[in-house]
Amino acid sequence: MISRAVRRGVVALTAATLLTGCAGSPEASSAPSSPSSPSSPSSSSSSSRTSPGTPAADPATPSPPPPPATPAPVVVLDPGHNGGNAAAPGEINRHVPAGGFTKPCNTTGTSTNAGYPEHAFTFDVAQRAAALLRAGGVTVLLTRSDDAGVGPCVDQRAAIANDAGAALAVSVHADGAAASARGFHVIEPALAPDGGNAAVLAPSAAAAGALITAFAAATGEPPASYPGALVAPGLTQRDDLAGLNLARVPAVFIECANMRNATDAAAVSDEAWRQRAAQGIADGVLAFLAGR
Ligand SMILES: [Zn+2]
Repeated sequence: MISRAVRRGVVALTAATLLTGCAGSPEASSAPSSPSSPSSPSSSSSSSRTSPGTPAADPATPSPPPPPATPAPVVVLDPGHNGGNAAAPGEINRHVPAGGFTKPCNTTGTSTNAGYPEHAFTFDVAQRAAALLRAGGVTVLLTRSDDAGVGPCVDQRAAIANDAGAALAVSVHADGAAASARGFHVIEPALAPDGGNAAVLAPSAAAAGALITAFAAATGEPPASYPGALVAPGLTQRDDLAGLNLARVPAVFIECANMRNATDAAAVSDEAWRQRAAQGIADGVLAFLAGR
């Protein structure tokens, strides 16, 4: 309860401070419309507590009114990169804040050797995961609405989750590592150079653990042991990703597979596998939400 109260305060503060930083982005400017309810659960539950002693005034009403609905948790899914990035080097190479330093707005991402691009993979998996989570009662926001545009920049992607007061932000990616390496890994935040994400390190680590368990179970994909910054099989920790450094809500990345490995390339190119990957992400998110 304490951490939730603290988080709510942090989110409110952050939403206020970030409003000026994300103006101009259609994705970011649409996000602030949904975060306005963090304070409603406590006020509605306290008012309902005052009514039990009052007898029902209308005998025609057979049952008491239902309790106020618990607001659906908000989860942000961030499909990495975008389909138009490669054709817009001027836009995606522009430097943006990244948590104590700057880095390019966005990158093109990788692809399989056969040419299936990471941006298409991440968009497909994120959409599938969004559908599964919405069916589970979660409000899902995506950081981009198609796979043909440019960006949004990495700082804007973080702002979308922060402004929404998201319970969790998951950035979906796939790796482009050595052909001999395979497997998936979840990236949890380390303390950002500017220290700004300190309050979300612990819940982000909890989310990472839930995602590793669920993704492995749903896909059978082995936890990777090749990446740098490896903490445990399937788990890496980094302080150089803007999406994690700028997070003021729990946030993780998942690298679903290595697109340059033949076995993993066949997996990501298979629609049925992508559905299992989405199921693993959705299961991990729901497990994290249930454990908060
Ligand atoms: Zn990527």
